[in-house]
Amino acid sequence: MGQSLYWMPTLWSECFEEMLDEELGSSDQWAFHFNYGLTETLTEEEKMLWCVCKFTLCDECSKTWPSARVVVVFRYRLRDETGRGTVLMRPFGQACRRCREEFELPGFSKNEVEEALLRLFGKIRKNCYGEEEEEVEEEEEEEEGSEGSEKVWKRPHEKALCEACRLGICCQEE
Ligand SMILES: [Zn+2]
Ligand SMILES: [Zn+2]
Repeated sequence: MGQSLYWMPTLWSECFEEMLDEELGSSDQWAFHFNYGLTETLTEEEKMLWCVCKFTLCDECSKTWPSARVVVVFRYRLRDETGRGTVLMRPFGQACRRCREEFELPGFSKNEVEEALLRLFGKIRKNCYGEEEEEVEEEEEEEEGSEGSEKVWKRPHEKALCEACRLGICCQEE
């Protein structure tokens, strides 16, 4: 499970491919790409912001810290004329409190990736195919034992250390 501390783009693209047929069931061709410079303003209908509490690992000092909120953004678009859809994903980094050098990209477990993609497919079904949005199943969250992450969640979010905050697109403070 230590692996999940490292940013692994292939995990995302593989899961996307795996889930695509079942979740969308469309003959449209969907492609999944990364765009690490995605900053353009996105409308609510074409983006999904996913925020999750987790630990981040610093490459420099090997320190692991709870960064309270890790953010990834997806932009999805379907071109009706061609039947081609594109998803762009940008992960936002968290800077180490000690080193403050670079933003470290977050690592995710397969479960987390699948959870994020389930929501993403839900959004796509709603906004690209006009289906009603399903509420995310609560059962799953209970199973995962969310106490751990809730504890982290209660820590204040350090905006200075959050790349998404710097760009002004972080999740809203509750
Ligand atoms: Zn560090
Ligand atoms: Zn933030």
